[in-house]
Amino acid sequence: MRTMTDLPTTMPAAVYRGPGDIVLEELPVPSPGPEQVLVEVAHCGICGSDIHLLLDGLGQAGSVEGHEWTGVIAAVGADVDQWVVGDAVVGGPSPRCRHCRRCLEGKPSQCRNRTGSVMDISEGAFARYIRTNASAVWRLPPGLSMRQAALTEPLAVALHGITRSQVTEADSIMVFGAGPIGALTVAALKAKGFGPITVIEPGARRRRLALDLGADEVRDPSELELFEVLDPERIASGACDVVIECSGHGNAVEAAFNQVSRGGRLVLVGAGIDQPNLNPLRMILNELTLCGSFLYDADGFENALTLLASGALPTDLLIEPADVTLDQLMGTLRDLSSGVLAGKAMVAPGL
Ligand SMILES: [Zn+2]
Ligand SMILES: [Zn+2]
Repeated sequence: MRTMTDLPTTMPAAVYRGPGDIVLEELPVPSPGPEQVLVEVAHCGICGSDIHLLLDGLGQAGSVEGHEWTGVIAAVGADVDQWVVGDAVVGGPSPRCRHCRRCLEGKPSQCRNRTGSVMDISEGAFARYIRTNASAVWRLPPGLSMRQAALTEPLAVALHGITRSQVTEADSIMVFGAGPIGALTVAALKAKGFGPITVIEPGARRRRLALDLGADEVRDPSELELFEVLDPERIASGACDVVIECSGHGNAVEAAFNQVSRGGRLVLVGAGIDQPNLNPLRMILNELTLCGSFLYDADGFENALTLLASGALPTDLLIEPADVTLDQLMGTLRDLSSGVLAGKAMVAPGL
C-alpha cells in the first residue's frame, strides 16, 4: 500500500446513533484493501435520502452516511495501478456486476446481482476519509472544482430520470419538487434545450430557485387542477407530455399522475414512504407510460462530469454558498427538511 506521508491514524466522522442524533466521533482511518483506495474527502453533498436515513430514522445505528463526494486520493491498495496518491476524484455508489443480463444491456441500476438498498452504506463520506473500490471513482475533468464536482452523483440521478422520460424537443415538461434532484433536473433539461418547463413546488425559496434555473413557470401544488381519482378521462388543463416526479411524496405522485397529457409519460424519481392512490383506468384510457427511475445510466457519472465541466449548469445557484462542517450536519439536515435551505448543501469535512 502506498499512502500520503502524513496520513493520520484517526479521523472525525459523523456517526448516526438514532433519529435526529448524530455524534462526531474519532474513528480509525480505514485501510484500503488490495483493490481499494482511500480518499481524503473534500466535499460531500447532503442528499434527500440522508434526511430519510438520519432524521426519519431509516439508518443503521453506528453508520456514517454521505455518498455524493469528491476528494483526493490519500492511499492506494497494492493492486491499484490506475490511481496515484494526490489524484482528484469523484465517487459515489455505483453498484454493477458487469456480467448479468441487465449490466450487459447497459442498465446497471437493474443489476440482477444487486443486493439490498445501495444507499444502505456504513462507511460514508461524512468523515475526513472514505475507503472505496478503485473502480468506483472517476477523475475530475480540468477546470471543475471539487465543490462543483460533488454534484456529479445527484446530477447522474437527474440525467437518468431524463433518459427514462424519453423527452423530445416537442414535449412540454412538468417537474414536481425543486429540491436538489428536481433543481438539477430543471437545470439539465434547460442545458439540453428542452422545454417549456413548469415546476410544481410548495416551498417559496425552491420556487424562486426553479425560476432562477430557467423554469418557464412555477406553481404551488394548490394551484393545480386536481380531481377525483375516479375521473379517468379528465385531463388537467395544464397537463404536460412529460412529468418527472422528484419529491417522493405520495400526494405529489397522485397529482403528477393527473397532470400527464394523453399519450404522455410519468417518471417517478423521488422515493418516498407514503403510497399514492392511482387509477389504472387513467393509464389505460390515456395510454400513459408510468416508469420508475433508479440511480444512473451506465455512463451516468461520465455524462454528469462532462455536463458539469461544460459550464452549462449554474452551479453557483444549485449549491448553497456556505459549506457545512461535520458538526453542523444535523442542523443543516433540519434546514433542508424544512425548506429553509433551497439548494444543495455541501459538507466539507476538512473545515
Ligand atoms: Zn444522493
Ligand atoms: Zn449486473
